Amino acid sequence: MNVYDSERMADVLAPLGYRTVDTPDNADMVILNTCHIREKAAEKVFSELGRVRQMQDRRRAGGEDMVIGVAGCVAQAEGEEIVRRAPFVDIVFGPQSYHRLPEMVARAARASGRAVLETDFDVVEKFDRLPKTPPAGSGPAAFLTVQEGCDKFCTFCVVPYTRGAEYSRPAADILDDARRMAAAGVCEITLLGQNVNAWHGEGPDGGDWSLGRLIRELAGIPGLARIRYTTSHPLEMSSELIAAHRDVAELMPYLHLPVQAGSDRILQAMNRRHDRDTYFRIIDRLRESRPDLALSGDFIVGFPGETDRDFEQTMDLVRRVGYAQAYSFKYSPRPGTPAAALGAQVPEDVKSARLQALQDLLNSQQLAFNRTSVGRTMDVLLERKGRVDGQLVGRSPYMQAVHVAAPAHRLGRIVPVTIAEGKANSVSGHIPATHAEDAA
Ligand code: SAH
Ligand code: SF4
Repeated sequence: MNVYDSERMADVLAPLGYRTVDTPDNADMVILNTCHIREKAAEKVFSELGRVRQMQDRRRAGGEDMVIGVAGCVAQAEGEEIVRRAPFVDIVFGPQSYHRLPEMVARAARASGRAVLETDFDVVEKFDRLPKTPPAGSGPAAFLTVQEGCDKFCTFCVVPYTRGAEYSRPAADILDDARRMAAAGVCEITLLGQNVNAWHGEGPDGGDWSLGRLIRELAGIPGLARIRYTTSHPLEMSSELIAAHRDVAELMPYLHLPVQAGSDRILQAMNRRHDRDTYFRIIDRLRESRPDLALSGDFIVGFPGETDRDFEQTMDLVRRVGYAQAYSFKYSPRPGTPAAALGAQVPEDVKSARLQALQDLLNSQQLAFNRTSVGRTMDVLLERKGRVDGQLVGRSPYMQAVHVAAPAHRLGRIVPVTIAEGKANSVSGHIPATHAEDAA
């Protein structure tokens, strides 16, 4: 989501003559787009700002200037503190304000020494005012935000406070964007939202559409070969969306469906609003609909009050579901969230040991999944050059990174690849001879 937001910032700044550069050292403007989800990410902002300040000093010593901006959720949550602790910052703005960047830049130029702070929540205005160009810098695979914000209020999470209430963009606007992207050569779209499967909106036919319905419509756009969506909440996995996994060939057989924990007691304390059995039933229905569906998830270990038995329930859930990929984190108390105020915080060494055990299990599942791909031939969208000469890197339908020997002119194309090796974080293979000849 932050990658997408950064690209949109580049879009709004382009008419002012700004373009993105690869390194910050000699830039006219540096914007840190920040994440507040865990303490570690938030802390990084201040150390990064120290580095950027040195770059600003060097530019000024040479008679030039550097505008410094802090964007994203740390700006939203700690804007005043940034202004106080880092007075050399010119603009501070939250995730729903960046369409106003041109005005902020102009105001910063006039404000001489006082930072411009913008942390409004006007998400409708934002989408209305963003330029309607195909996204900057996107290759054959691109993101498209369809939903923002969250009303779920899981007790550990800052998102509802930093990104605001749930908002679904109108279907017509999304379809418009997708058509424009496809016309510009994008063949894979990932629909984005904090709770993307909670998306609903008025369709062009006047009816109330769910995400499943929207995906069916997107699949009809010429040139759009692949559709993905992330990130989803188990409770919003509607029948129509599950059915789309059966019926829509363009919808890729990979789903990120975070569960966070495997113990009912902890799920309840997290305010996830479902129990482990409900999660299992949803997974069963999904697999009935799409037997080869690869699953990914997010997990938190060491939530306040988590016992060894609770943690064992998480391990058990992971064993029962079997993940192709996953993200796992130590619980990080976030200011203002209910869980941060709970007693029974889990000691750091216990969190570390649990994280290690969980990651060992998840890594072994990922390796096993990648190994089961060996011998199969699957469609791979070639997205970028690899580190080795003559090698391209792409994504399988199951989101695996695939290394393949192929000529550079095949970048952006979907090619069949026979998988020869499955490793921890990727697979590798070759284009079958018949297809390699086509390319010549
Ligand atoms: N909307 C998504 C999650 C968005 S946040 C969902 O409900 O699944 C991305 C992930 O960060 C979460 O799934 C969670 O695993 C992790 N996370 C959020 N807050 C956290 C915290 N306080 N400590 C540790 N991990 C956290
Ligand atoms: Fe955070 Fe996701 Fe829960 Fe919303 S549903 S509060 S974004 S973890």
